[in-house]
Amino acid sequence: MLLDEGKCFKLVCGAGNEDAQEVEKLVALYSQAGCKFFDLSAKPEIVEAAKRGLQGREGYLCVSVGIKGDPHIRKAQINYEKCAGCHKCEEVCPQRTIKHCKVKQARCIGCGKCYSVCTHGAISFVSENKDLSEVLPPLIKEGIDCIELHAMDGDWVEKWDYINSVYDGMLSICTARGRLSEEKMIEQIKQMIKNRKPYSTIVQADGYPMSGGSDDYKTTLQAVATAEIVQNAKLPVYIMLSGGTNSKTAELAKMCGINYNGIAIGTYARKIVSKYIEREDFLRNEYVFNEALKIAKALVETL
Ligand code: SF4
Ligand code: SF4
Repeated sequence: MLLDEGKCFKLVCGAGNEDAQEVEKLVALYSQAGCKFFDLSAKPEIVEAAKRGLQGREGYLCVSVGIKGDPHIRKAQINYEKCAGCHKCEEVCPQRTIKHCKVKQARCIGCGKCYSVCTHGAISFVSENKDLSEVLPPLIKEGIDCIELHAMDGDWVEKWDYINSVYDGMLSICTARGRLSEEKMIEQIKQMIKNRKPYSTIVQADGYPMSGGSDDYKTTLQAVATAEIVQNAKLPVYIMLSGGTNSKTAELAKMCGINYNGIAIGTYARKIVSKYIEREDFLRNEYVFNEALKIAKALVETL
């Protein structure tokens, strides 16, 4: 219903975000702000943390998995022999997960911002290519509402077939044009949905993955443009904007005639409340929680 009405706000906690405490706080905050759909790392302890955060409120939980090479499932690491200790990476990390030139990998979302600023070539990535036959069955048993495959390019067939064989609920395809042409992206979506029932799949049109740090139209332009390409293909799927989404996304999409079903916001949604979320007393301190709630509500209501 939320998708049909174009009112589906999805909070992206981060496919690679394995910080259970942070996820619980984010879900507690955004579920109270009116969000009902949450994107989580595919780990039982993270799904449990999200359930705690819901505190009995209605919410749909989506776990994200990726294919080798996908930025959402990689983790940064620093080579200390090359590191000059300039701290530039610490300053740009949206997850604030680099301290004293060391990456706390559980919180790393693989965005690559640290890599871009390191002029010493000290940062590289390790890819977490999870075996889905170990990861998904316990999560399905525990109760999830959606599985998302990040299928930007590469070998998605085996993983997608496996997901379809073990789960008959809503699936989501996270796709982008970074490595695929327009034509290839649409062709890939068509292949992925050909054996699925109409409107049982969400296509998450990722403009620039994990790029939504700023709140301007330029940052969200590619999310809207990618959604337009999917919309023009007239496929029986729900369209969700993501990758560079912020408080301007809904407005720009409406101005451009995009009939979106939902908007997924991660980096920006986490950033605007980070100074509250980071507090150890966040869930107990009513004043702090309510200050963050005003900000989260204003973002959810932009849809
Ligand atoms: S930016 Fe590179 S050189 Fe500077 S602290 Fe980070 S890893 Fe080290
Ligand atoms: S900047 Fe991005 S990739 Fe680098 S450590 Fe932080 S979250 Fe991970």
